[in-house]
Amino acid sequence: MLSHVEITARVEVTPAAHFVWSNRLEYSHDCFVCRRVGRTVVLHHGAAHGLCHSSRHQLEWQDDLDEVGRHPAPIRITGFDTAGDISVQTLRCRLSFWWSPFTDLKRPDERAAELGAKRWVRLHYRVGCHTCRDTGEDDWFGEQKSLQSNMVWPVTSSCPRCRTELVTMSGPPEINLVG
Ligand SMILES: [Zn+2]
Ligand SMILES: [Zn+2]
Repeated sequence: MLSHVEITARVEVTPAAHFVWSNRLEYSHDCFVCRRVGRTVVLHHGAAHGLCHSSRHQLEWQDDLDEVGRHPAPIRITGFDTAGDISVQTLRCRLSFWWSPFTDLKRPDERAAELGAKRWVRLHYRVGCHTCRDTGEDDWFGEQKSLQSNMVWPVTSSCPRCRTELVTMSGPPEINLVG
């Protein structure tokens, strides 16, 4: 059956922050294809399928794997909405995937679920510093950063150069099954 999960993230930004979400994320998924619970799938907005990362020895009965044990998975990003104003940036992302009940191939006592028991997500973003931009710093638009469910909240991030506070995240992204 076709299932959908919605991920919602909210970040408070200061006026000095130049904030952009990445179109890439990692998500914990009970993967119907390799029949393992809690795999990491890598998703790009616009890609036709996700990529499930599993170790090769667990999957040697499958022949469509590349050399490090990844396989295409029937999960993709079907909605990606960002919105923001002077103080808040939000991301709402819908994942759609083909799923059917199974028990874990290596741990038969673990039953898979559409929404995994130990679900987590890792989101990526870049944040630049207007203070550094205005003083003429070339690389004011910072490096790629990420936030993930298992961080210790709240998370505050400041400019590594001038220490201006840029973003605050009060809690983990929400992950919900949707109809
Ligand atoms: Zn898989
Ligand atoms: Zn700065």
